[in-house]
Amino acid sequence: MTVYLVGAGPGDPGLLTRRGAQVLSEADVVIFDRLVHESVVKLAPASAELINVGKRPDADESSTDRQDEINRLLVAHGQLAEVVVRLKGGDPFVFGRGGEEVEVLARAGVAWEIVPGVTSAFGVPGVVGIPVTHRGLSSTVTVVTGRVGDHSAPGVADWEALAKLDGTLVIVMGIKTRTEIADALIRGGKPANTPVAVIERGTTSRQRVARTVLDRLGEVDLGSPAVIVVGAVAALGAPGDGPVSWAPLLGATVVVTRSGPRAHGLVDALEEAGAEVLAIPLTRQVDPADGGAALREAVADMSQYRWVVLTSVNAVQRFMGSLRDARAIGAALVAAVGPGTADALRAAGVEPDLVPDQHWAPGLVQVFPDADSGSGGVEVLFPCVDIAPPTIEAGLGEKGWRVRRVVAYRTVALDQPNDRLLTKMAQADAVTFSASSAVEAYVVLCERAGHSVALAPLAVCIGATTGSTAQRLGLVNVAIAQEASTEGIVNAVISHLGHDRPGDS
Ligand code: SAH
Repeated sequence: MTVYLVGAGPGDPGLLTRRGAQVLSEADVVIFDRLVHESVVKLAPASAELINVGKRPDADESSTDRQDEINRLLVAHGQLAEVVVRLKGGDPFVFGRGGEEVEVLARAGVAWEIVPGVTSAFGVPGVVGIPVTHRGLSSTVTVVTGRVGDHSAPGVADWEALAKLDGTLVIVMGIKTRTEIADALIRGGKPANTPVAVIERGTTSRQRVARTVLDRLGEVDLGSPAVIVVGAVAALGAPGDGPVSWAPLLGATVVVTRSGPRAHGLVDALEEAGAEVLAIPLTRQVDPADGGAALREAVADMSQYRWVVLTSVNAVQRFMGSLRDARAIGAALVAAVGPGTADALRAAGVEPDLVPDQHWAPGLVQVFPDADSGSGGVEVLFPCVDIAPPTIEAGLGEKGWRVRRVVAYRTVALDQPNDRLLTKMAQADAVTFSASSAVEAYVVLCERAGHSVALAPLAVCIGATTGSTAQRLGLVNVAIAQEASTEGIVNAVISHLGHDRPGDS
């Protein structure tokens, strides 16, 4: 003597829950709606009485009369039969009038149980690759019916108020009124170019999808039943019915402040991960004040050095460029601070002799060998950027080395980006930094634009040195790549902003 209100899911019979299938298999009576798939109804035993209470939308009986009739049937059967299944499309409590039916049963003293289902409001967008919420794009979702008109009338949404929400709108039963809905939302301030997706008969073999923008919703030539999704997420997923596309950074905007040729690799890798990338180089490398004379003089006789220490790709390029060719290195050993620097050396034909596990200057100092007995002459050449901290000289000095520091290039802040770029930068989800100089340039720009540094987006730093510069300058949300490389930066961004592949737990 129990009435089970069972959600059959949006259409595909495979989306019925196991609990739903179980109570159906024990049903004496099944009272089902029009949108429920026949093969779900047929899960009831052959002896069960099947009652179709669905009506075509064009039938002339009023929905109040029909609901009264359903309520009477539910109570009558609930009082006599052992297992009554009230089978509804989607979820019984999402625009399914399940709440009213439960009230009627409770008043009549009939026991009831809810078996939730996959609602079409979320499941149908889902199967075409539209997540109704999406980190960075939409953090709220509102489900409404498509009734338009005076919103003081019961069941009519206040569309102009809904237009002010910047999350996702999912509209059920809205196909007929789609033009009015679009008009009301645009009147309320929703941009006319807001992405829209319409999915008819989602999850069934007759599924059809249309992608458009709000002010063209009226032109969509699809019929009921359909859900309409309005908001940035409606542009996600595959266009049409193709396979769902997925990438961990879809929807995230990431600023790349790195300059020079290495910026491309980072931009490409982030884009491949699905991010929208803004390449805003904040610094630029230029010749040293002496035009490179000191470096040329320092490398003229390489036999005076036991080691050359290189802590950036730029330093590698400047150093190698000042030699006649790679053989000029002679017997000197070469240390590279990290994999990027090491790769740049290899590209120039030199296999590094030492690359520390921790890719920063203190890590290099740590693994650097002690000098044997002081032989007097300059033993380590350190071609570097003008603003390199004294870590290398001090650290290697303590190990007994004499270090010759030579400015190989300078880093200068780029001209100020324009206001539009600055605003975009402030609204991004993350900003990546490959050097302290970029952090410094960034902080100057933020301050000039009146943007609080403390409210800046996530700062993803290539290593601990850059990270501590960021923290020292007041950035609050700082992440440090585990690996000082392009891949390390991308992984750090993904671990902070990425979302899981659908289906992964
Ligand atoms: N309780 C149901 C909703 C009932 S209202 C649920 O949770 O899904 C009926 C509306 O749901 C339809 O007008 C349509 O907007 C939507 N709908 C139901 N099944 C659908 C499907 N397979 N594809 C698209 N929309 C569907």
